[in-house]
Amino acid sequence: MIGAGVAGLAAIGTAQSLGAIVRAFDVRPEVAEQIESMGAEFLFLEFDEDGSGEGGYAKPASPEFIEKEMALFREQAPEVDIVITTALIPNRPAPMLIPKSMVETMAPGSVIMDLASENGGNCELTQENEIVNHNGVLIDGNSNLPSTMAYHSSQLFSKNIEAIIDHCHSEEGFKLDKEDEIIDGMLFIENGEVRHQPTKESM
Ligand code: NAD
Repeated sequence: MIGAGVAGLAAIGTAQSLGAIVRAFDVRPEVAEQIESMGAEFLFLEFDEDGSGEGGYAKPASPEFIEKEMALFREQAPEVDIVITTALIPNRPAPMLIPKSMVETMAPGSVIMDLASENGGNCELTQENEIVNHNGVLIDGNSNLPSTMAYHSSQLFSKNIEAIIDHCHSEEGFKLDKEDEIIDGMLFIENGEVRHQPTKESM
């Protein structure tokens, strides 16, 4: 994870919960604790420069810092399967941190998800709203991820409905078995009678 602000920390949480080993870097040293509290490893860079700007945002890093940072990524690139980049400084083009030559050290099948694509991208090969295949490495420049939420939410919801219908089916056909803990918990009203009173927690 390159850049651990709002999007980066959320992505660390999701990747972690899906079982990934996550390593992350950010120019703001105060983020180290947040990265570690999410269960990821903070990649430490020995360099005497604090990238923190005002209001929790970063300030532009010096060219020397960017060079050091890129050397760190160069070490990581051949080892990692997925790189998610979110490095951004408000009102500036995204810093270019993954040049073509670095992509070429990654294993075929690896993925770079460039969330900074709208601002030019953190990878040299990023094309906004396109998936670029460079020697088998996919660079995804989708800049409107929230628009894909509806599709995935519908998929998750329909999967839940399918599971409950399946649960109610037996050899005898469709049956609401009130002895069953799941069915009992879900059946709030039966023949006009309220079976469960709302609890404080459910209100
Ligand atoms: P943010 O400002 O919270 O995070 C950006 C992070 O990048 C900061 O932590 C900053 O310190 C870090 N950074 C800056 N320069 C860096 C460098 N050279 N190396 C490493 N880290 C560096 O912003 P955000 O809301 O997380 O958004 C980041 C990008 O992700 C934007 O392009 C945004 O459009 C996109 N995005 C955000 C969301 C969201 O919900 N916030 C969703 C999808 C995409």
